[in-house]
Formats: sequence, structure tokens, C-alpha cells
Amino acid sequence: VPLHDAVLGRAQEYGDRAALVDAVSGREISYTQLDHMTRRVAAGLAELGIRQGDVVALYSPNTILYPVVFYGTTRAGATVTTVNALYTADELHKQLVDSKAKLLVTISLFLPAATAAIEGTDVTEIFVCDQAEGYRSVMELVASTAPEPSVTINPAEDVAVLPYSSGTTGSAKGVMLTHRNIATNLVQAEATFAMEDGERIIAILPFFHIYGQSVLMNLPFRFGVTVVVLPKFELQQFLTTLDEQKITRAFVAPPIVLALAKHPAVDGVDLSALKYLTSAAAPLDAELAEACAKRLGLHGVLQCYGMTELSPGTHAVPQDDPEPPPGAVGKLFPSTEQRVVGADGNDVADGEVGEIWIRGPQVMKGYLGRPGETDATIDREGWLHTGDLGRMDARGYLHIVDRVKELIKYHGYQVAPAELEAVLLTDERIADAAVIGVALEGNEVPKAFVVPMPGSGLTEADVLEYVAARVAPYKKVRQVEFIEAVPKAASGKILRRELRAREAARE
Ligand code: ATP
Ligand code: MG
Repeated sequence: VPLHDAVLGRAQEYGDRAALVDAVSGREISYTQLDHMTRRVAAGLAELGIRQGDVVALYSPNTILYPVVFYGTTRAGATVTTVNALYTADELHKQLVDSKAKLLVTISLFLPAATAAIEGTDVTEIFVCDQAEGYRSVMELVASTAPEPSVTINPAEDVAVLPYSSGTTGSAKGVMLTHRNIATNLVQAEATFAMEDGERIIAILPFFHIYGQSVLMNLPFRFGVTVVVLPKFELQQFLTTLDEQKITRAFVAPPIVLALAKHPAVDGVDLSALKYLTSAAAPLDAELAEACAKRLGLHGVLQCYGMTELSPGTHAVPQDDPEPPPGAVGKLFPSTEQRVVGADGNDVADGEVGEIWIRGPQVMKGYLGRPGETDATIDREGWLHTGDLGRMDARGYLHIVDRVKELIKYHGYQVAPAELEAVLLTDERIADAAVIGVALEGNEVPKAFVVPMPGSGLTEADVLEYVAARVAPYKKVRQVEFIEAVPKAASGKILRRELRAREAARE
């Protein structure tokens, strides 16, 4: 079935229940309204000349109108390309050119970047989700009286969404996800994330990223629960909203788990309504997860794993597992195959570390306009090589070690930066940390960038000593630098390439 039918198929049944609540203004959109509004947007887009296969770009922080535009676009048979809300005009311009978008939907605050970015692209018109002098608003599309376009979608071929990978390891790539890719992944994920009637979920992760799209829009709307929307992450506002809106479930990335485990502000709020906390997008240390769960009175932080190219999920910790193995990212989804492959291309023995390969209906159609990179990622037998290293434990849970590309090669040993970052975060004097490999006397050695806790009096020697006492000698951190903040992507990933660039600039 098409994506919007998989997501909103039961919307009429859910009726007057709130599908979306704006945490700041209190404005709501009910399920009936959401269904209706997406149909009207489809009609409005068709009236503007948007045809099946055309691309609409959505460049906006989270708002309650985001899903309206998103599903309205797919209903029109068009493809929605979601743009990182932190992008500059140049970055947006690149995505508009690459995706050949014809229409851009944004917010008034982003108009300076948006208007600059459309120069020399196929975009002929900009719409805003709010109001801006001289621009048409999304509410005009919603008010369209044109007939809903009748489009026949071929779910296995037609691209519903064109998100871009996070660009953590290189440049962001357009990932073609068909209606079938996403719709089947929802069904695969459903058993592990069974949401109950009356649940309230906080949309704090960005909708533009595949993780937020999947768990904060697609899945909740299928279950008929209420999504409470915040435009951006700000710790105090996030905590207050959890408390005041009686949020039952939150999906986050490791930086938020870190804040929930360590920040003093958490003591000032009542989080007793919160039943499930899930983390994904980057490695999460088991001890940190444990500390966070304990503080919030949860039996664990549930993890899931995926990537843009996998629509996005393949593994999740079942929410009813009373004792999920610490650090595990989850069990394999149904109708998905996996291999754990060594450097020689053969499967490794059980429990050993190798690259995770995935085959299943959620594997992307390909990278837009990059056949070479598509072939380098999906082999002839249909296996997608994730680039992530992991191992399976005795209970059938996957543990992610780090990305293949990020490993530090020290005298023939391989050191995972994520492991050292996890060790560093167990030190109470450390607020945050990131590790990269730096060249030293013909070798590569781990260097830690550390954000000390205010007033901790931490020295560089303390950091070296702390790690050395806890890891094998070959893994020791050998250089330390104090920084004010660890550079992170909007999706919560540590941007190690920025730290590497900083090092390179110094040489
Ligand atoms: P790019 O591919 O452009 O460099 P990216 O890989 O960061 O960027 P995404 O598709 O957003 O783009 O992220 C997928 C990656 O996130 C996975 O390949 C994996 O490295 C990481 N990841 C996702 N979930 C987890 C998890 N639970 N634990 C550890 N790592 C995770
Ligand atoms: Mg990637």
C-alpha cells in the first residue's frame, strides 16, 4: 500500500482524538482533520501543477503542519525530500539541485536562506507553514477546493520519500525510499513498538531525519496516539513538556540520554508518566543507559538500530523484554535477513565482531543519481553493507561496536572511538567527550576531546589516567584537549570529521 494509506488508513476511525499538539501554542490537529488536510494539500499541489513523480522539498523545523505537507505530497503521487533544518542556503541549494525539487515549503524564519537557495534551481514557488508577507501559506493549500488528484501509485517502484543521509562520514546522499520500503518497515517495527491507546509521544527528534519520521510520525499515526511537537531541543523546555504534557514515550538520541542521566535540572520535574525511553542514531554506552534508566525509574533505555538506507529500521529491543541485555541495540525485525561478515567476506563465528549486512524489503531503491555508490553499498545478491561493526550475543541481540571507517588503527590493533567515549562518560568530572585517531610518529593514536564538568578541576593528566586504568594498554587515550562542546549533527551524532578537520587545519 502507499505510505500515506499505511500511516493514515485508520485516521477516520480515530476521529476526534488529537493526532498532533503544538507544545508551545497548544494548537491541535485531530485525526479526522489530519486525514482531511492531507487530502486537501494533495489537491492544492495538483492544482499548482505538481504531478506524480515531481519532488517537493520540506525545509522546516518540527511543526504540526509538517506531517500535513509530508503526507499531502505523497498523496499527490509526488516525492517529498526532507531537508535538514540546520542547513545553510548553500547546503539547501545543493539538495534542491540534486533532488530537482519544484516546490519548496518552509517557515518565515527560514525565508532568507530559502530565497537565496532557490536561485538557479527548478523551484518555482515557496510556501510557508506560518505567515509571511508576499508568500503563500500552506493553509491556502489546505483551503483548496480542487478535486483530490486520482493517482495510481506503484508502491514497489515509486519513491515516496527522498531523505538525505546525515553526512556524518562524507557528503549527504539522497536515499530513494519507495512506498513499499517505508510501509513494510512500519509493519516490521510494529510488534516491538506496540503503542497503547491514550499514549502521548514527544516529537523532539527532527521530522526531517528518517528516525524522527518513522517513530514520531508514521508509527504513532498508525496507532492513533497523540504526538506532542516541539520545534527544537532545549533541555528545560523538553523536561517541562515531558512533565506538563504527561508524556508516556520518548524517542531520543544519545546526547539526550546523556542529559537525562547527568543534568541537575532533571531533578526538578515529575517524569512519572514516562513509560518508555528509546535511543538510536549513535552508539549508546550501557552504563550511561543504566544510569539514565535508574534516575527515571525505567527498567532500561530501549535501543533500536537502523540507517536512512534501511527505511530506517532493522533491529529494536522489544519493549516487553524485562531484562534487555545492557548495550544491545535489539533483535532483528521480521522478514529481514542479516549477516555478520569479516574482512575476508565470510561470516564470522557467533559472538565475534564483523560488518553487519542486511537484506529485506526495507533496503532502499538506491542513492539518487549515484549508481556507483549504490552498487558499492548493495551487492549483487541484494545485501546492503551497513558499514557498521557489530556482534550478536547468545540471546540473539545485536551489539554495535562502531563504524568500520571510524576505527583507529594502532600498531595492528583496532580501537573503536565509541568504546573510549563510553569510558570517558563514566567519569563524573566529564560532561561530554569525543575521540578520534590522530597521526603520531607514523602511527594512529586515540585523542580525546573532553568537555569538563564546570568546577571539576579536571586536568589532561587526569583524563589520561582515568582511561588507562580501565582499558587494555593498546586502547589508551594518548592525547587530550579540552573543548567547550562536542560537535554533533541535528540527529545527535558526534561529528568526528569536524574534529579531524580541526586537527588537519593545525598541521
Ligand atoms: P552518512 O551515511 O551520510 O555518513 P549517517 O550514516 O550518520 O551519515 P544516518 O543514516 O542518519 O546517516 O545514520 C545511520 C547510522 O547511524 C548507522 O549506520 C549507525 O552508524 C548509526 N546508528 C544508528 N542507530 C544506532 C545505534 N542504536 N547504535 C549505534 N549506532 C547507530
Ligand atoms: Mg550512513
